[in-house]
Amino acid sequence: MGRALIIGCGGVASVAIHKCCQNSEVFEEIMIASRTKSKCDALAEKLSGGKTKIQTAQVDADNKDEVVALIKQFQPDLVMNIALPYQDLTIMDACLECGVNYMDTANYEPEDIEDPEWRAIYDKRCKEEGFSAYFDYSWQWAYKKKFEEAGLTALLGSGFDPGVTQAFCAYALKHEFDEIDTIDILDCNGGDHGYPFATNFNPEINLREVSAPGSYWENGHWVEIPAMSIKREYDFEEVGKKDMYLLHHEEIESLAKNIPGVKRIRFFMTFGQSYLDHMRCLENVGMLSTTPINYEGKEIVPIQFLKALLPDPASLGPRTKGKTNIGCIFTGKKDGKEKTYYVYNVCDHQECYKEVGSQAISYTTGVPAMIGAMMLLTGTWNKPGVYTVEEFDPDPYMEALNKWGLPWKESFEPVLVE
Ligand code: NDP
Repeated sequence: MGRALIIGCGGVASVAIHKCCQNSEVFEEIMIASRTKSKCDALAEKLSGGKTKIQTAQVDADNKDEVVALIKQFQPDLVMNIALPYQDLTIMDACLECGVNYMDTANYEPEDIEDPEWRAIYDKRCKEEGFSAYFDYSWQWAYKKKFEEAGLTALLGSGFDPGVTQAFCAYALKHEFDEIDTIDILDCNGGDHGYPFATNFNPEINLREVSAPGSYWENGHWVEIPAMSIKREYDFEEVGKKDMYLLHHEEIESLAKNIPGVKRIRFFMTFGQSYLDHMRCLENVGMLSTTPINYEGKEIVPIQFLKALLPDPASLGPRTKGKTNIGCIFTGKKDGKEKTYYVYNVCDHQECYKEVGSQAISYTTGVPAMIGAMMLLTGTWNKPGVYTVEEFDPDPYMEALNKWGLPWKESFEPVLVE
């Protein structure tokens, strides 16, 4: 049915690529392009026996012209950006220049947060909006008109969270509620990799997210709190009791706009004590800094140096045991009555490893990346502009989750988070 250019070949991309190859009717031809071509070649070799035709290429996606040249050469129907959020804008620019649809799994954030031009816009947004995360949708929403005029679709954030969580919200609104009052997104990783400290996806992105102030949406505005200052315990099905902490998360920003009348949206993620202790210590000594320092005549970025020391997230697969449980709890009204509803997915790290050679964090992100791409390639989701997942019909996406490895469950009497 179509050709996809996949940029990035890390933990998440590797799962998405496995899934594209399982779905060869839709993904007839793919090109895997990343900074390090040897990784693309190794994966292409591993998957070479299937029906999907695979090519590989080297690309620096920070350079728009390189992406444009690659698109012109491969002529894809869709570009799947599964590199890093730093590349979102250059890849969107390249898609516009070449007239190709776009999708990604995380919203834009700049690599250099000290860049004065970016900083001025960021400071203004912090004041106006009331949250201080480095990532936000404004940069990519600014492309809406250009994509509309070009007749192209950009699908933002089709991973699990963001991504599936927003499909859950759209589904709840379509089928379960007349009005949604509150949404709590609960992301639990009950997996254990045996290391005192490691991150489950790109360490730089992960540590930036977790060390930032938390925030939630309430009664039409943001409430920001110090990092990790709101903690709750929750008993997750198939995982058990875990401590979870309120974080800022990107889907809150789009859901606040797209779920009419919603009064409160919060996001919680579970963390073990060892992870938090290590993170606090690394932060205190400056290892999470993105500002370059001069070390013995060479410029290094502390968090990038730390990344080089930490286990590669892709290597955690064989060691990680346990399950993830990610979902959304809703309160609201249906037919004039108060109602609560919980929709969630449970995913087993070892099962994922058996199937695609990755742990569940990459799996739960890579599968929805393939599904989002499938929605665009098949034309199931087709409207020009720049959209997040909850802005499309959730039904085909929800059906595809069941089919492609992330079946969801429902509870109509969930324990609520206080
Ligand atoms: P990894 O670090 O494992 O992989 C990133 C890949 O992008 C690597 O192959 C890397 O190449 C490549 N890359 C980086 N910079 C460039 C560049 N300039 N040009 C071309 N390729 C580049 O990250 P993950 O797989 O863990 O994460 C991928 C994305 O998924 C991120 O945007 C992350 O934020 C997002 N994510 C989303 C989630 C969700 O639920 N929505 C959850 C988890 C992650 P190289 O190997 O050379 O470094």
